Amino acid sequence: MADPLTLPRTQLARVSLAEAARISGAMMKPGDSAHFDAGAAPTFGDLTECLFFSPGDGRIWLDDQRMLLLHSAAFGTLRRELIAAFGTERARGVLTRAGYASGARDAALVRERWPDADGASLLAAGTRLHALEGVVKVEPVHFSFDAQTGRYDGEFLWHHASEADEHIAAYGIGNEPACWMELGYAIGYVTGLTGTLVIFREVECRAMGSATCRVVGRDAARWDDVADDLRYLEAPLASMAAHEGESTTGEAARAQTHEHRGGTSLMPARPRSGTAAATATTHNDDLIGTAAAFVAARDALMRVAPTDAAVLLTGESGVGKERFAATLHRRSRRAASPFVAVNCAALPDSLIEAELFGVERGAFTGALVSRAGRFERASGGTLFLDEIASLPFAAQGKLLRALQEREIERVGGLRTLAVDVRVVAASNVDLRDEVKHGRFREDLFFRLNVFPIVIPPLRERRDDIALLIDRFLAQFCREHARSTPGLTSRARRALLNYAFPGNIRELRNMVERGVIAIDDGVPIDLPHLFRHEPLPADQFYAVDGGMLKAGRPGGEPLANELAAAISPDAAHAPLSIDAIEARLLTDALTRADGNVSAAARLVGLSRAQFAYRLDKHRRAR
Ligand SMILES: [Zn+2]
Repeated sequence: MADPLTLPRTQLARVSLAEAARISGAMMKPGDSAHFDAGAAPTFGDLTECLFFSPGDGRIWLDDQRMLLLHSAAFGTLRRELIAAFGTERARGVLTRAGYASGARDAALVRERWPDADGASLLAAGTRLHALEGVVKVEPVHFSFDAQTGRYDGEFLWHHASEADEHIAAYGIGNEPACWMELGYAIGYVTGLTGTLVIFREVECRAMGSATCRVVGRDAARWDDVADDLRYLEAPLASMAAHEGESTTGEAARAQTHEHRGGTSLMPARPRSGTAAATATTHNDDLIGTAAAFVAARDALMRVAPTDAAVLLTGESGVGKERFAATLHRRSRRAASPFVAVNCAALPDSLIEAELFGVERGAFTGALVSRAGRFERASGGTLFLDEIASLPFAAQGKLLRALQEREIERVGGLRTLAVDVRVVAASNVDLRDEVKHGRFREDLFFRLNVFPIVIPPLRERRDDIALLIDRFLAQFCREHARSTPGLTSRARRALLNYAFPGNIRELRNMVERGVIAIDDGVPIDLPHLFRHEPLPADQFYAVDGGMLKAGRPGGEPLANELAAAISPDAAHAPLSIDAIEARLLTDALTRADGNVSAAARLVGLSRAQFAYRLDKHRRAR
């Protein structure tokens, strides 16, 4: 057994390096604060563009990561209860690791979005994101990183750190620094970005009576004793053992456990690209996703796969029913035998029986040779019957007999043939309804419905859209020998807001279309994805320089609308700043349904400032 104190460190460094290298394809460029160009991408503006609100959908996004707008006081409550329940040490560990996960995700975001940015800009982006997320205002004193040697040095001042506020509100001023989650974030961000384990320590904290908090960071090798720091970064072994003990059902559970442990052992927990998740998705073949309803369906599939039970898959068209069936087959004892798929709706009624059960020569005009049906061809394996509801009534009877007797007769044949086939059926309509209306045999329904699995539509697993986009991008770039830095942020937003009536199949087609439409090295934009589909009508709100603006993905933001609305006046009346301001205020007020506080927020003013200005314009009229 390796030294428990060095083990997590080496693991962490290795994983982060792999992660960093995967994202950039190369080591990060060196950078230091002395050569930092405040105007280089990603600027504050670039980063705020990644943040958008989708209130109709109940989601906030930072690029493609779902975020929460949490009351600072609620975080304070959570923090207090953690401390009360588990003690300061363990609570500090939990919060440090939560901060780390957040920082590592942000690092992955900037590396992916700005792969060509210089090191100093990338390092600075972390301080900007931390501020954008409302956690703390970061003032760099100095920072530098050398990729060759892995040497990192940094010192920062933290102004009005939210965690210090909450700590002071609960416990007053004390002797220990209290910005644990912020510290975890800094460690996670810089480590995720540089691929080198960098440890930050808070040397002064407002919770200790200092005017500001001050943190110092160095690569772990250059701190005297990092054992203490690592203690907070590494989850307690006891809880890891508990997770391992949970492993019950085959690969899925193993993969999940693996993923879970990945999270606790501080691999940058990033489902879409983390090393742990990559392993997990390999285990789960093509069935990638983290949405609860999807995970439940996948779990059920993995549980029933090793048995011989008939499975009925239901879900809208395009949700991936055949993929589920194929995965089921691969996970079954029948994996070495054929997997045969039949779409019952694609075959004319007159041919379906011959297709399923085979035909003897001369059975009907055109049957010139004897031919095995799909049942025979699937012998020993799995027969997947898609759109089973469109099976004609007569064929339903024959199918039932085949399932009951485990034997079939070819059309026009006299002998019976024993078949050993597992049947997996799928339907995009409710078979119970079909039974109720007399269109589907009840006895066959019960025969097929031994183990039903419902696959959710894509719009109910929006959190998986980003995962799937990346997956399809990689696949189609490979297939079509194209390279692209990815999707523009407005294209990504549009996909995240789109309803996908055609589900995963539609997303897949859109991404393929996008990959084909672009020239090498160009990002995929809206027109490459959407042709005739109506653009998502869902409103989203993006933050722009402190001003919330509503817009449509791909459409012009309303701020421009406002400008356009004002400019016609210019021909007739001189355009003054006052006039524009008056127009802006009344427009905001209209948009906020007369609510002054809401209108003030829209234009980035306090309620009092807004009311004062509004009053001034009214009096001037
Ligand atoms: Zn502090």
